[in-house]
Amino acid sequence: MASISDIDKAAGALRAGGLVAFPTETVYGLGANAEDPTAVSRIFQAKGRPPSHPLIVHIAGAEHLCDWVQDVPATARLLAECFWPGPLTLILRRGRRVPLEATGGLETVAVRVPDHPVALAMLSAFGGGVTAPSANRFGQVSPTTANDVRVELGEAVDFVLDGGPCEVGVESTIVDVTGDAPSILRPGGVTREDLEAVLGYRLAVPSTSPVRVPGQHPSHYAPQARVVLVEPEKVLTEAELAQELGHQVGVFLPPSFTDASVKAHAVVALPVSLAAYARGLYGFLRELDQQGCDLIIASLPAEEGLGCAIANRLRRAAGPRPSSVPGLQEH
Ligand code: AMP
Ligand code: MG
Repeated sequence: MASISDIDKAAGALRAGGLVAFPTETVYGLGANAEDPTAVSRIFQAKGRPPSHPLIVHIAGAEHLCDWVQDVPATARLLAECFWPGPLTLILRRGRRVPLEATGGLETVAVRVPDHPVALAMLSAFGGGVTAPSANRFGQVSPTTANDVRVELGEAVDFVLDGGPCEVGVESTIVDVTGDAPSILRPGGVTREDLEAVLGYRLAVPSTSPVRVPGQHPSHYAPQARVVLVEPEKVLTEAELAQELGHQVGVFLPPSFTDASVKAHAVVALPVSLAAYARGLYGFLRELDQQGCDLIIASLPAEEGLGCAIANRLRRAAGPRPSSVPGLQEH
């Protein structure tokens, strides 16, 4: 676990224009000084991420929000008061301190206060904003432990802060508050139901089609193994069939199945609680890769509460993979 001296080293690395991987309650982030365009562009190089994909500016508290955006509409203020620190990212109009490198050239900026003591200590010690995407290579599974980051990015990171495994396990919910009505761009750790309870009205259900949000590709969160989604009642038969066809099959076994005699190479027995499923999701995908699976058979959870974020990540993990990205070819 990160010590006070580690926090100081991380803040120093950020001041020197370096890259620091840090824990948040969602996933590990790959951070740089948000006001240093050269440092920000190093994030894109380290991840192999196209420069048009915007990042999230992490700040130490809601009281700093007005330093990073042009204005704070009443809805944004309300959501920040209710959910920060927490897994909610707000899209607002870009303030002058934020270079275009951090927003992928957009005039809007994503901002959030992470709910993790190590992240908050680092942000306070640094004193500025830290812009970060998830600390994985572009398109691949997000890291939820410091070791995942080291395995994934190695020497490309100047300093890794260890804050233990992430509590939430999937990325933040992104809400655009620049328009007349707030809209959910990405489901995440704060549920639509949580947002509606605070706002007092219903929000549109986020689209499940390939989303046209900057920085969101049909293929994302993808393990090395191909991911195939099937109806829950077909998980066992499809796994058996694929195994007979010579695949090394990994199965996400829904909690309703207690059948231990699954004919597959590796099995993940999914937890009943959606919070535990979200917390474990990326680790399960990594584990099946490590066990040598070339195909993962899974089904979508009911799209309520955290089930929306889990289903969104699984759909992307199963999405068509660009052959130009190393490691993402269809097997
Ligand atoms: P990551 O957490 O790695 O997915 O990276 C940050 C995500 O925030 C990106 O994938 C974008 O989808 C989203 N994002 C950041 N800034 C904006 C913005 N100005 N408008 C819409 N989405 C954004
Ligand atoms: Mg990411």
